[in-house]
Amino acid sequence: MYQCSKDRVKDKIERFSQFGATGGGGITRFSLSREAIAARGEFAKRMAAIGAEIVTDDMANMYATITGSEARLPRIAAGSHADSVRNGGNYDGILGVITAMEVLETIAAEKIPHRHPLTAMIWTNEEGSLYPPAMMSSGVICGKFDKTAILASKGVFPEAGGKTFGEALAASGFAGDEKDRLNPKDYCAMLELHIEQGPVLEAEKKQIGVVDGVVGMFNYRIQTRGQADHAGTTPMSFRKDALLAAADAIKWIHRELDKLPEDLVYTTGEIKLHPNVHTVIPDEVDFSLDVRHWDPAVLAKALETVKGISREFDKCPVSYKEAWSRRRCEFNGDLISLVEKNARELGYSYMIIHSGPGHDAQYVSDMLPTAMIFVPSKDGHSHCEEEFTSLDNAWAGINVALNTMLDIDKNW
Ligand SMILES: [Zn+2]
Repeated sequence: MYQCSKDRVKDKIERFSQFGATGGGGITRFSLSREAIAARGEFAKRMAAIGAEIVTDDMANMYATITGSEARLPRIAAGSHADSVRNGGNYDGILGVITAMEVLETIAAEKIPHRHPLTAMIWTNEEGSLYPPAMMSSGVICGKFDKTAILASKGVFPEAGGKTFGEALAASGFAGDEKDRLNPKDYCAMLELHIEQGPVLEAEKKQIGVVDGVVGMFNYRIQTRGQADHAGTTPMSFRKDALLAAADAIKWIHRELDKLPEDLVYTTGEIKLHPNVHTVIPDEVDFSLDVRHWDPAVLAKALETVKGISREFDKCPVSYKEAWSRRRCEFNGDLISLVEKNARELGYSYMIIHSGPGHDAQYVSDMLPTAMIFVPSKDGHSHCEEEFTSLDNAWAGINVALNTMLDIDKNW
């Protein structure tokens, strides 16, 4: 079994934590921002130092490739994203990029024989924080999103300076050629290591999550309609308060979905309230409902439950519509077995786990054999500055990735 360098991993974690450092222990590194471009520069510098050839595709995804002994074989890729949410942590995404870099650096430093060319990747704009949607560039190159529509995506925070993603891409200097996209002709597999972003591995005392896929989900918008009236003059019994109705609707949804298997998860994370004025009874509320589960039958049952919501709460009519949904994604069985075998042979504790969040690997898996490795998130935190994965656990995950890449290289 091969092992990577813990010192080199530590050095990379510390170095990349500086690009977009907030001063509060985390980073804000929106895709294609000055900070993100600095991180890309560091990636390119370190990959060039081991003789990798570096290209970008038309969505600015970056590819650093070292040659193998058989040049005509397809490439094996590993990677993740280098962008973050606002006040995010030092591990989400970037640890997968560091993994890919460390695998290539170990192979180069120890002159480990390998046949296939090996590629370390940065996916552009996975978070979609500044320019929605999430998983933007893997979505474009895997045919999930229309590129023209994506280029027109307007920045949602002042940091975008009113620019669209397309304008930011053109200005970044990282827009490359469409022919250099990850594709099923030139690549044979893709591996992504990521922090779990949940508490399960830590609670189960496991170092490695062997990810078998990404759960299915549906996202609904639910509306309640009331009547706007004066907060001082309208007796309670006369009111049609759309916010009270929304609160009761949310409680109803929770009570009903609580009856389904306990690993079903459901969230209302966004509420739009009209007119949102403290002296006016709200007349319109629109809220999100995100529901996720691995088993399509459970998800179907949850959907049926949601659709059974009362037409009226507190004298306010209730309506709903689907915002979007996606089927569960199952990763490649052979690759899952290799990840599991290597976790076992390296002597790490591990478990099979589903991913609740979406990842670039999920879009790639429709195009190429793909798998993911999870490492524990302390207290389950992510998308915040407290996000943390111990060096030992990061190192363990990277060792699994290294040996899995070398197994693919040997057998595919
Ligand atoms: Zn991520």
